[in-house]
Amino acid sequence: MLSYRHAFHAGNHADVLKHFVQVQLHLYMNQKDAAYTYIDTHSGAGVYSLDSFQATKTGEFDTGIGPLWNCDDAPAPLKEYLDLVHAMNPSGKLRYYPGSPYVAEQMSREQDRLRLFELHPADCKILADNFRKLDAHKAEQGQRSRGRRVMIDHGDGFASMKALLPPPSRRALVLIDPPYEIKDDYKRVRDAVEEALGKFPSGMFAIWYPVLQRMESRQFPDRLKRLPAKEWLNVTLTTNTPTPDGTGLHSSGMFIVNPPYTLEPMLREVMPYLVRVLGRDAGARFTIEKGTQVTGAVTGRQAGEGPRAPVGNARRASPLSGKGSLRLPGQSMPRADEAPAPADKPARAAGPRANNTRALGRLARAEGAAPADGATRAGGGSASAPASASARAPARTPPRNTTGSTARNAAGNTAGQGTARGNSARPATAGAPRSNRTRQGGGGGGGRG
Ligand code: SAM
Repeated sequence: MLSYRHAFHAGNHADVLKHFVQVQLHLYMNQKDAAYTYIDTHSGAGVYSLDSFQATKTGEFDTGIGPLWNCDDAPAPLKEYLDLVHAMNPSGKLRYYPGSPYVAEQMSREQDRLRLFELHPADCKILADNFRKLDAHKAEQGQRSRGRRVMIDHGDGFASMKALLPPPSRRALVLIDPPYEIKDDYKRVRDAVEEALGKFPSGMFAIWYPVLQRMESRQFPDRLKRLPAKEWLNVTLTTNTPTPDGTGLHSSGMFIVNPPYTLEPMLREVMPYLVRVLGRDAGARFTIEKGTQVTGAVTGRQAGEGPRAPVGNARRASPLSGKGSLRLPGQSMPRADEAPAPADKPARAAGPRANNTRALGRLARAEGAAPADGATRAGGGSASAPASASARAPARTPPRNTTGSTARNAAGNTAGQGTARGNSARPATAGAPRSNRTRQGGGGGGGRG
């Protein structure tokens, strides 16, 4: 079932979290000269036009890049991401939004390799067209064609990833960003990363996921924490309290396996800002957890706190949620000791290339012209059972430095802990100012849940 079309959701708060983190992961990878392979298992169309039928129908970018667009006080790491989006829009008007392949193309270097997979035939064609046009534009500028630097395949990203690992350079950044329109996606992600870690334990895997009420979603981060990875980091961004009817995506997360050591302090600096700008009500918050695997039984804990971290039980899946929540203006302020830590940002070894803007009109027009054939709703799909929650898990040391602004307002935490009900994730981002949203994003191509 391929009803999901990302054009309906481009630039929403979940994209902001994902792409901002992606930029930081590239910057970290760029610190070493050695080439790396970027694998995008679920690429989408690559570039999105925010004045397309799809984007304007849902208006989801109003929950993400929209409010950030004119912010001139963003913390430096977030500015890296905003600069990339600004470079796509030299007129100063927000018209284009990058997909993860475009972020990777801009952030990676000549020596790096991009391997892009997309299963939807229409989006795969648009992706390929976009890169062809980007290439043509580069050629006009006298730059080398991408040659084999970028390879785009119409295929199953889960299966394809396996075949590429380990890469010859022994350095890889893998983004896994499925629609989660079928329950099976949760299990497929976990299984695929487990298998990949078996072949390539040092790979960096960045997994986006929706925070939803459905059991697969609630259990998902805990299942990822039990992967045989040396280290992990889990960051969530919640923009609002779940709606009573469960529609809309109010929260999402990025789970990084083998994260850069610089990521956590950087997130501590940026997440409070994102909550402040994108938060829509008192439910807005972020969480940051980090853990290290050792051996034995599960012993994850929040740093500096007594209670055990959640493991292996969906009902206890999110006790960390809300830790790090930031009050919106007009509400009580965080304590002094909850102030975000200064970032330890990696030096920028390569940044967004600003000279592709002329090609973007052509790129995004291609995407805007994409047929709205994703208008069917996401259904449950054929779902295989998620991995048993009672499976034996390897032990971990306590997650370290859990949150930037921790241990405040436990009651509030419990009340809003990423448990939006319903099955729409990407679509119909809750609280967005457009009125024409439906449960699945105004007919917007499936759901992330
Ligand atoms: N990563 C993209 C970005 O950030 O711009 C967005 C990707 S979108 C959320 C998910 C994409 O995965 C959709 O375009 C969908 O067609 C595609 N897809 C679904 N199942 C897939 C699979 N098994 N392999 C590859 N692509 C798949």
